[in-house]
Amino acid sequence: MTESFEIINCPVCGSEKQDLYLKTFDRFDRDRKDKFEIVQCSNCQFIFLNPRPTLESLDRHYAVEGYDPFISADEKQSLRDKFYLALRKFNLSVKHRKIKKFKSTPGKILDIGCATGEFLAYYKQYYWQCTGVEVDAGARDLAREKNIKVFSSVHEIPDQEKFDVITLWHVLEHVHDLNKSIEKIKKMMNKDGVLVIAVPNILSCDSQKYGKNWVALDTPRHLYHYTVETIQRLFSKYHMNLVRKDTLMLDILYNNLLSKQLAKTSFFPFIRILFLSLFKTYILSSKYSSTLVYYFKKEENHE
Ligand SMILES: [Zn+2]
Repeated sequence: MTESFEIINCPVCGSEKQDLYLKTFDRFDRDRKDKFEIVQCSNCQFIFLNPRPTLESLDRHYAVEGYDPFISADEKQSLRDKFYLALRKFNLSVKHRKIKKFKSTPGKILDIGCATGEFLAYYKQYYWQCTGVEVDAGARDLAREKNIKVFSSVHEIPDQEKFDVITLWHVLEHVHDLNKSIEKIKKMMNKDGVLVIAVPNILSCDSQKYGKNWVALDTPRHLYHYTVETIQRLFSKYHMNLVRKDTLMLDILYNNLLSKQLAKTSFFPFIRILFLSLFKTYILSSKYSSTLVYYFKKEENHE
C-alpha cells in the first residue's frame, strides 16, 4: 500500500492558517531526512504535524523495528528490558500516588492505551474495577490474560458506562480523531471524575535544547505537541478545567537520554542539559518538564 497523507485544519480552533514550526525526520528512518513538517496554528498557537499520515497509512509507522512500547513482564527479557521493567514498576507506584490525591477509595478506572495492562493490574490489587482500551491486538490479548476487560476503541464502550478516573498515559499525542475521542471521554466521566493525561511538553527545557532531535517529536507517530496553554484551550471547548499539573521524573531522564543519542551530543553537554532540565523543572516550574501530567475535571453544570 502506498503511503498517503492528508492536510488538516487546526484540531483545536479549526483555523486553516499555520506557520512552519520545524522540520524533522522519522527517528526510525535510516536516511534521517527532514521530510515532516510540524506547524503552529496562527490563530490559537496549537502545534501539530501537517500534513499527517491518513489513519489507514499510520499503521506502518508503528510496525517499525525498534518501536516496541509493549515490553511485557511475561516475555523473556534482556538485562536492559529487566532494568526498564523495574523502573516501570516504580513508575506505577508514582502514578498511583498521584491519582490518590483525587480518589483514595476504590472505584472505576478506565485506562485508554492500556498496552499489556500493567497499570490496570496494579490497580486491581487495590480492588478497583478496571477497564482498558488498546488498539494493538497482541497487547490487548496480554491484558485480557490479566482478567481485565479491554476494548479495541473508546467508541465501543457503552455510553452508560461511567468512570471515576480515566487515564491516558502518552496516548493523546497519537489519537487520530482527537475531538471525537475527547467528546466520548467526557461522556464516560462521572460528575466528580478526574481525567489524567500525560503528554510530552514541546516547551520543555530538553525540547528547546535538542530542537528537531528531541525524541518526543517522534514524527509521524506523534500528531500533536501540547503546551500548558493549548491543552487547556482544547479542553475548554468541552467545558473541562485544568485542576492540577505535575511531572514524571523518569520521562525527563528517558527523553534526555534518547535525544542525546539522536543528536549525537557528547557527554558533558548532555549532562549540562540533563541537569538544567531537572533543575528548571523541580526548582523553577513544572512547565519546563519533558512530560506534563494534566488533571482535568468537568465544569459544574456540564454533564
Ligand atoms: Zn488553532
